[in-house]
Amino acid sequence: MITLERLTKRFGGTTAVDGLDLTIGSGRVTGFLGPNGAGKSTTMRMILGLDRPSSGRALVAGKPYASLRRPLREVGALLDAKAVHPGRTGRHHLLAMARSNAIARRRVDEVLAAVGLTEVAGRRAGTYSLGMGQRLGIAGALLGDPGILIFDEPVNGLDPDGVRWIRGLMRDLAAEGRTVFVSSHLMSEMQLTADHLVVIGRGRLVADASLHEVIARGAPRDTTGRVTVRCPDPAQLAALRHRLAGRSVTVLDAGADRLTLAGVDPADVGDLAFAMGIRLHELSVGTVSLEDAYHRLTTDSTEFTAAPAAREGR
Ligand code: ADP
Repeated sequence: MITLERLTKRFGGTTAVDGLDLTIGSGRVTGFLGPNGAGKSTTMRMILGLDRPSSGRALVAGKPYASLRRPLREVGALLDAKAVHPGRTGRHHLLAMARSNAIARRRVDEVLAAVGLTEVAGRRAGTYSLGMGQRLGIAGALLGDPGILIFDEPVNGLDPDGVRWIRGLMRDLAAEGRTVFVSSHLMSEMQLTADHLVVIGRGRLVADASLHEVIARGAPRDTTGRVTVRCPDPAQLAALRHRLAGRSVTVLDAGADRLTLAGVDPADVGDLAFAMGIRLHELSVGTVSLEDAYHRLTTDSTEFTAAPAAREGR
């Protein structure tokens, strides 16, 4: 478990993290979302004792990181895959980490195998691709067999197989009862990986809810379906949009030749287009994605504020 208590970080006049009150529970993958500059990395750095909070505190397994005697055994982290001495081999990098935390040498070979780096473990880390660097960082996080894992944008630089692999790994780690806290800007990836989401904006909590709940909150109340309309004539599409506006339809997205709508029956859109003599190239139904929900959540801050439990602490 990770606990944040009114965690705040100011850099000069910038408040990067602003009074976060939060518990990140075990046995599930918690996705950490927010636009660039929202304060995700700073929050993670404070959890790991790399940045000192201006006020408040962050606890891992009930203690400040700095007070952990063997930190790698409590919490494993991948923050910056390039934070490895380029002249050291992958194996030596892990051996040095293991030694400083009284971890057996054979564990190094286990984690190298677990991340698929056994064959290149004798090569200098400076020659690794970005994806291999990510895998080495993940091996380091797993080294102490910790109950808490923190990953900052772990799929960056991974190929599609690597992305699938890390998704499975995170889900397995959570299924074993561990706390998995992972930041990402890839909504589609988070939708497949996370059980729970923490969304922040400008350092403040925007949502702390299950994936399901965030999608439901981001979806219009009367439907979870979305309708995509494509029309080759922008003027006709604008006319259709204008007529639909009177019918309490939500426009999730609009382009020159495309509208994505919610809260409307596709048959009504088709009938209306037919009656107006509008030529359609597509009329399709999909489900509301986390990306849609996230967009509404972060742009419509009056409708979606922090959960009451989180606000009470302020
Ligand atoms: P995210 O990870 O969500 O993109 P960050 O935590 O990196 O956000 O940054 C949050 C805010 O804090 C940004 O405005 C960023 O410019 C600022 N910031 C982060 N680190 C520093 C630093 N070392 N010095 C000054 N400002 C910083």
